[in-house]
Amino acid sequence: MASAAKAAVEAVQDGVKKLAVKEGSTNVLERRLFFIPSFKIYGSVAGFYDFGPPGCAIKQNVTQLWRQHFILEESMLEVECPAVTPEAVLKASGHVDRFTDFMVTDAKTGDCHRADHLLKAALEALLEDPKAGLMPEKKSEAEDVLARIDELDGPGLGAALTKYGVKAPETKNDISAPFPFNLMFKTSIGPKGDTVGYLRPETAQGIFVNFKDLLYYNGGKLPFAAAQIGQSYRNEISPRAGLLRVREFTQAEIEHFVNPDDKDHPKFASVQDVTPLLFSCALQTNEAKRPEAMSLGDAVAQKIIANQTLAYFIGRTYLFLVGIGIASERLRFRQHLPNEMAHYAEDCWDAEVECSYGWVECVGLADRSAYDLRAHSAASKTPLEAYEKFAEPRYEQVLVAKPNKAAIGKQFKKEGKPLQESLDALTQEDAACIKKSFDEGKPATVSAGGRDFEVTPALLDIKQEEQKLSGRKFTPSVIEPSFGIGRIIYCMFEHAYYARESNEDKSVFRFKAAVAPLKAAVFPLVQQPELNATARSISAALTRAGLANTVDTTGTTIGKRYARTDELGVPYDITVDRTTIDGDGSVTLRERDTTAQVRVHQDAVAELVQQLVTGAVTWQMVLDTHPAQQPAAEDNT
Ligand code: AMP
Repeated sequence: MASAAKAAVEAVQDGVKKLAVKEGSTNVLERRLFFIPSFKIYGSVAGFYDFGPPGCAIKQNVTQLWRQHFILEESMLEVECPAVTPEAVLKASGHVDRFTDFMVTDAKTGDCHRADHLLKAALEALLEDPKAGLMPEKKSEAEDVLARIDELDGPGLGAALTKYGVKAPETKNDISAPFPFNLMFKTSIGPKGDTVGYLRPETAQGIFVNFKDLLYYNGGKLPFAAAQIGQSYRNEISPRAGLLRVREFTQAEIEHFVNPDDKDHPKFASVQDVTPLLFSCALQTNEAKRPEAMSLGDAVAQKIIANQTLAYFIGRTYLFLVGIGIASERLRFRQHLPNEMAHYAEDCWDAEVECSYGWVECVGLADRSAYDLRAHSAASKTPLEAYEKFAEPRYEQVLVAKPNKAAIGKQFKKEGKPLQESLDALTQEDAACIKKSFDEGKPATVSAGGRDFEVTPALLDIKQEEQKLSGRKFTPSVIEPSFGIGRIIYCMFEHAYYARESNEDKSVFRFKAAVAPLKAAVFPLVQQPELNATARSISAALTRAGLANTVDTTGTTIGKRYARTDELGVPYDITVDRTTIDGDGSVTLRERDTTAQVRVHQDAVAELVQQLVTGAVTWQMVLDTHPAQQPAAEDNT
């Protein structure tokens, strides 16, 4: 077969396979209550999901593993802050003015759509449509717009939507020009309703506003990281992708504060040989548009990733995601394109995972420079700075600013107090700005106490002097890895799902044992009091060993019971039979993916399962050291 035709066939087969995984996994996930549309008996509200029993257990396990992998490993400082946030905080962070997505409305029905999503869907359909008959240059132009979609601003999106004749998806009506829509849920704080608040759109701000106290808690030393796991809220325009785009979700965020002059990481050597798929700006915009595997050591050496600390977190993120069951070949780190990246950011990468919805951003990793701390410092008038003691004293030219108290009092009377305070606390940057104006013969404008003051050299004396410095104050940079727990879990569900080759109706989740909602299920083979009692005492031993488990005493066939636990991704099943009671006291232990069974003494089985779950022993070691049990015919019923 010609290679183009072969590729087309493979693409179709791949598409069919992904659809089967999506349909199969969604069916099981909804039927077995991994997650449930919220408020279902009232008709549900788009963008809200409940986690049911297995979903809750998996979320707990994943967040616990995250805590272990990041917070404990790096001795991070964990905080828990309120979701309701006063306006001043989110005004300073820029969310009140700029936390927007571009929206278009259906000209006839008024239905709302996200502009970039409509454009993306239209371009993908165009590129996949064999009847479109695109000329090579038109094809590559469309591919280019698709690759750069995250860079487009409102007018850019509007122009592209018009160019490709994009209509409203269901009605095919015309759409409006894109306009910004703020994604925050607004609320009011207190009974009078006059204090504006918002549900936080991210957990990060709680960490920034606590920076001063956290630095003190850390003995004034940098670098250090703080972390928060909690709910975030975004009033998404049209949430349609299940757990992937919801209006309330759990985030796990880290703010790693560093000296901007030294972004090396002491543990970088531990990840320098990790080789993830990297999709740099250059690779996204060349003709092939394909990510390439590259070691993090090489990526930093070649300056593809800006610094060791950012690369360190990319490596740790890779290890975490693969460790919980994300397939490494379906995980890539995509660098933000220059216009996609905020102006203050030094470098940003998204961990994207491929699932049936395409490549989905699950983690954002950004070097945000000193932007956030500076913004909160300025708005709260609280210096958010760190102090660095020099190894040797340095002699440097510094600006010394001396406000003329008497002149300020004379000119501004009582109103001069905030100006005086502001001038007392001038940073070197501010002093340099004011001096520049004075040198040009102009007064400088200084904002203080909610008004602007015109400051002249008569009010403020600024001189450059050589000073012996034993240290310096500076605003730290922050490297921020931001995880969406729900997105990660959903992608992990798809990667873990398969149907048994022997029987396609039998669905299995090959969850890692540490992630699985239950570590074991215990079955009495038939309903008999002695078998039930033994099953219960094994279950109690498992519980004492800290292993979530269940006992299934329903009289259904053992095959059906195995199938039920496979659907929940339970890694080990223990069956109590007559041999346990009348024979050598052994039970059968079955492993989910191989379905192989061995006999283990009932008193040893809980400990063995614990060793399997923690990885202290492997299933192969168990097979090598225990007598095999042939599955009975009814096992497969
Ligand atoms: P962002 O602050 O937009 O970079 O988001 C950080 C992380 O939060 C993303 O990588 C996602 O994993 C997650 N996230 C953002 N928006 C949503 C949403 N609407 N639903 C679920 N997860 C989200």
